[in-house]
Amino acid sequence: MPFRFHRLSADRVLLTNQGGEFALLDTADFDTFAGGTVPSDSSLHLDLKSKGFLTHGPDETELRVAASQFRTKKAFLEGGPKLHIFVPTLRCNQGCGYCQVSRAGVETCGVDMTSETASKAIDIMLSCPAKAVTMEFQGGEALLAFDMVKWMTVTASERAAKLGKAVRFVICTNLTLLTDEHLTFFAEHGVSVSTSLDGPAFLHDRNRPISGGGAHDIVVRNIARCNEALGSGFTSALMTSTVHSLPHARAIIDEYIAVGQKSIFLRDLNPYGYAIKTGHALGYDTDLFLDFYREALAYIIELNRNGTFFSESFACTLLRKIMTPFGVGFVDLQSPTGEGFGVVLYNHDGSVYASDEARMLGEMGDFTYRLGTVNDSYAAIFFGETMLDIAAAGVAESLPGCSDCTFVPYCGADPIRHYRTQGDPVGHRPTSSFCRKNMGVFRHLFGLLDSGDPEIERIFLSWLMPSRTVPPRPTWQP
Ligand code: SF4
Repeated sequence: MPFRFHRLSADRVLLTNQGGEFALLDTADFDTFAGGTVPSDSSLHLDLKSKGFLTHGPDETELRVAASQFRTKKAFLEGGPKLHIFVPTLRCNQGCGYCQVSRAGVETCGVDMTSETASKAIDIMLSCPAKAVTMEFQGGEALLAFDMVKWMTVTASERAAKLGKAVRFVICTNLTLLTDEHLTFFAEHGVSVSTSLDGPAFLHDRNRPISGGGAHDIVVRNIARCNEALGSGFTSALMTSTVHSLPHARAIIDEYIAVGQKSIFLRDLNPYGYAIKTGHALGYDTDLFLDFYREALAYIIELNRNGTFFSESFACTLLRKIMTPFGVGFVDLQSPTGEGFGVVLYNHDGSVYASDEARMLGEMGDFTYRLGTVNDSYAAIFFGETMLDIAAAGVAESLPGCSDCTFVPYCGADPIRHYRTQGDPVGHRPTSSFCRKNMGVFRHLFGLLDSGDPEIERIFLSWLMPSRTVPPRPTWQP
């Protein structure tokens, strides 16, 4: 059967197939398999046959199983976009060096969403076939437009109820402006809170300055208030790694545990907005990030071995794809791409973008990936020329470099990132930082799975139990 392979080391080979199955073989077994001489009474034969790597000829049942596996992996496509991002305001009270957004000052006029625009955007969101969607408020700082957030939450809830649909609400906030009124509203309407915590005070305050002093202590205090008011599982934090973060993997993780988080998303810098402008000051080579990532993951595994449940969200996303039959609706790692297929963004001015990253390009004056406006029809937005262009470059299995890559069953396309970084949505994988990072993490995870340590597999599987794992979030920075 069709397969791809990758040499993990001189004597170990990884095989994958389109159904997402994998096998780790020593070189001798691989040579036997590739030569078509696996003895039919061997355990190797049984193993490879059960995973769909070999067959004795056209077999209707095996083909149906392979088709079913593929369909299950791509089930995230059903129902259209499920993550709908609303930007109630561009205004923000912080000045983070890596901010992806061309933010506006707190007093700036003309950068807030009107109720007329919000109303039309909510109708588009509820026009999607999905029975359940997530409505995420971003900014700027969304709490600076709290009245609009309230109005949108109540309006979307009422309209969804009439249509028999469900809406899950998430507010992305830097938490520096949190009041009891906010918490009461979040508790009453089931609004989850997503914030940023870059690590201990010396790191967080360096990355995320606020006038009048550091924000770290305020954020930590307010995470505790959220946990108390909303209960466990409704407040999550995520970090962005600048060059200042790289020497402090353990301290960052210790900080997350100290504030009661069960998971961390170790994110590298994104090449958008302010992150581009300050890239030289805060950026780093992908290999340095991979060193940081491997050190952090080793520490997290050590914590789990010693009885502390704590997971890493990017690894969870990949492991769910690798170790379960299911796909994951994670925008950055979908094929077809999540841009427009899994996520859509309604900007404060009524522009509709294929993703947060497309909006950031728009804020930089490049409207290539603006799908339209809230005044356009559903069909014009989701089946227009721009979406066709995204789709053409958005299927990893058909892209040069990816089409014969062993990791493609678990990877994604991200055409907008490649347009931004390489000037072409198809991109050039040998020089792509997106590819280099993903391939480095894939190789590391498969190396761990191949280590022969049963504890590693047990720990990874414990991370995939839905009741205990904080779901990975789309790329975002408040
Ligand atoms: S982006 Fe890189 S790692 Fe991912 S499928 Fe393409 S070539 Fe493979």
